[in-house]
Parts: sequence; C-alpha cells; structure tokens
Amino acid sequence: MTGDVTVISGPTAVGKGTVVRALRTLHPELWVSVSATTRAPRPGEVHGEHYLFVSDAEFDELIAGDGLLEWALVHGTDRYGTPAAPVRAAVAAGRRCILEIELQGARQVRRLIPDARLVFIAPPNFETLHERLAGRGTETAEQMARRLRTAEGELAAASEFDNVVVNDDLGTAVEQLVELLGL
Ligand code: 5GP
Repeated sequence: MTGDVTVISGPTAVGKGTVVRALRTLHPELWVSVSATTRAPRPGEVHGEHYLFVSDAEFDELIAGDGLLEWALVHGTDRYGTPAAPVRAAVAAGRRCILEIELQGARQVRRLIPDARLVFIAPPNFETLHERLAGRGTETAEQMARRLRTAEGELAAASEFDNVVVNDDLGTAVEQLVELLGL
C-alpha cells in the first residue's frame, strides 16, 4: 500500500492525542483515523469519535476478517487497532492521513506502507512523563506503574523514526509538525 500516511507515535501519556487534536484544529483538511479498542470508554469519550469501543469478540472478528491495518495489545490489557477500510478510502480520496498509535502499531505500518512518515513524540524528560501520567488521575497505582514500565521501553525506540518532536510546549510541538508535514 502507498499513500500520504503519517504515523504519530511515542511513549504512553506523552501527549500524542493532545498534539494530534491541536494539529487537526489548525488543519481540518487532515484525515485522522479513529481506532477500535477493547478498553472501556473514559468519562466523556464518545463512540465513533474518540474510539470505536468494541467487545473482545468484535475485535477478534475484525482481526479474522482482515479488517485492521495494524493492531497491538497495549499495557498487557487492552487491544487497539486501526480499521483498514477507512484508511484505504481516505488514501484513495487523496486525503492526508494521520494515525495516532503506539509503537508496535507504528512498526507494523512501516512494514505495510514503506513510504509512511513516522514521527516520534518525545517527552522533555522521564519525570514529566511521570507527572502527566499521575496528573491524569484515571489510573490506579498498579495501572500507572505498568504504563510507566511500558513507557521506559518505548523511549528507546525514537531512533527508529523519521522525525522526533519533543512535546515540551504544545504550540511549539504542533508548529514543528506543521513544518514537517509541509502544511
Ligand atoms: P489510551 O487508552 O490512553 O487512549 O491509549 C493507549 C495507547 O494506545 C496510546 O499510546 C495510543 O496511542 C494507542 N493507540 C490508540 N489507538 C491505537 C491503534 O489503533 N493502534 C495501536 N497500535 N495503538 C493505538
């Protein structure tokens, strides 16, 4: 598959979602993939907008029917995946596509769409990542410790990416992305 696909990835809770939301607000012409996930919705999350919230059985069906471009088990608990058909349709329509996914998924997209651009969003330092994760307040201590362990390993992956954008100041990070994408 070829197409104008940009993968925005990086460690857990680095602010990838916030960066992508800000980028989309500035550039509504971008097409942003809505992932399927087996995790339960957080307060305020809307089915079809933030995620497609599906059951384990529905996720199994998506995999079996080749309905996902990539998927990953995240934090050893929930599965997340990019529905393939909407990406194919957006690419065919000549849209610029953005996928906000974690690292295992980014690697799968690299194999599947060799000309995709992979951008790593990095935290200014590990303490900041810890604070952001704690600040979210939606995780138990055990969930948080698990997410931090995942994040430590993820930081080492930056070198696999085409570009690294440090998310210290949101505005600056978005500006850098706009420049990278030539928007
Ligand atoms: P959260 O549960 O905090 O919304 O997301 C957890 C992690 O899953 C984040 O790192 C997010 O980027 C990642 N993620 C969201 N959607 C997908 C997807 O479709 N595929 C993959 N591989 N990761 C995803």
